[in-house]
Amino acid sequence: KESLDEGLQKTKEGFLSKLTKAIAGKSTVDEEVLDNLEDALVSADVGIDTTVAIIARIEKRVAKDKYISTSELNKILQEEIEAILTDATDNNYKSFDTPAGKKPYVILVVGVNGVGKTTTIGKLANNYKAAGKSVLLGAADTFRAAAVDQLTIWSERVGVPIVKQAMGSDPAAVAFDAIQSAAARGTDVLIIDTAGRLHNKTHLMEELGKIKRVLSKVIPDAPHEVLLILDGSTGQNALEQAKHFTAATDVTAMIITKLDGTAKGGVVLAIANQFNIPVKYIGVGEKMSDLIVFDKHEFVDSLFN
Ligand code: GDP
Repeated sequence: KESLDEGLQKTKEGFLSKLTKAIAGKSTVDEEVLDNLEDALVSADVGIDTTVAIIARIEKRVAKDKYISTSELNKILQEEIEAILTDATDNNYKSFDTPAGKKPYVILVVGVNGVGKTTTIGKLANNYKAAGKSVLLGAADTFRAAAVDQLTIWSERVGVPIVKQAMGSDPAAVAFDAIQSAAARGTDVLIIDTAGRLHNKTHLMEELGKIKRVLSKVIPDAPHEVLLILDGSTGQNALEQAKHFTAATDVTAMIITKLDGTAKGGVVLAIANQFNIPVKYIGVGEKMSDLIVFDKHEFVDSLFN
């Protein structure tokens, strides 16, 4: 909770000062306050759709209670925001446990370059290892030499093996190699990095589709998880990327990185509201330990208190 509060510091400051401005000089929540509130949420990167959903819920409460003082507004907002965020459907991610009968548990990691994919894979590997799981990394982003190098550095830092091939080789071939190797070694968790090229949706679909087909040849229900990494410091851009990737492939969970040092963390609310896909972790720094389990109650609580 402490590192969450620390990581969200800037977002919280911006968020609360905007809310304070929205109710300045007002004692009750009226039309004007709701308008101000709408502007405040949009400017706090909550996104139009989610803002509209929140305002509609506040309006309902105002209509029901007739009178809501502005001093109560933060508490009510907190409740209503929390209520519209998607819940995760499984709890394994909290303990870095893996579901029974899924060995290796195969996680395919997708996202645009630069969002913190490699770093997040390192953090995940470290957490799974700390939970007593054996981990293997697959370097299927074969388009950038730097990507394989970075992942290799993380594999050494965490102390887990990596499967890689020469730059430019077929990503699906690396994925195939990696899953065969994981199955042969009896590895608990296989985490596969992919190239995040978004220039063309059809291309992205084909590439990820091919990797998924190859994985399912070795283990029929693999990948068990398709994890989308988004950079929270890019605000609405992260929301756009989420739209592109969820349209291109079946994303099962999301991780939002770089929430430390940005005031745009409100975008987490938009992402956790609009896709019906759980946000499982958030990144609040560059170190291995800077990955936090996303708990919607704690997150919203951190924004307000
Ligand atoms: P990739 O291209 O998506 O694999 O991105 P990298 O993992 O190489 O990360 C890009 C940069 O973002 C690096 O300098 C990382 O140290 C940094 N980074 C990754 N996650 C976080 C985070 O949660 N907070 C901060 N402040 N920096 C991060």
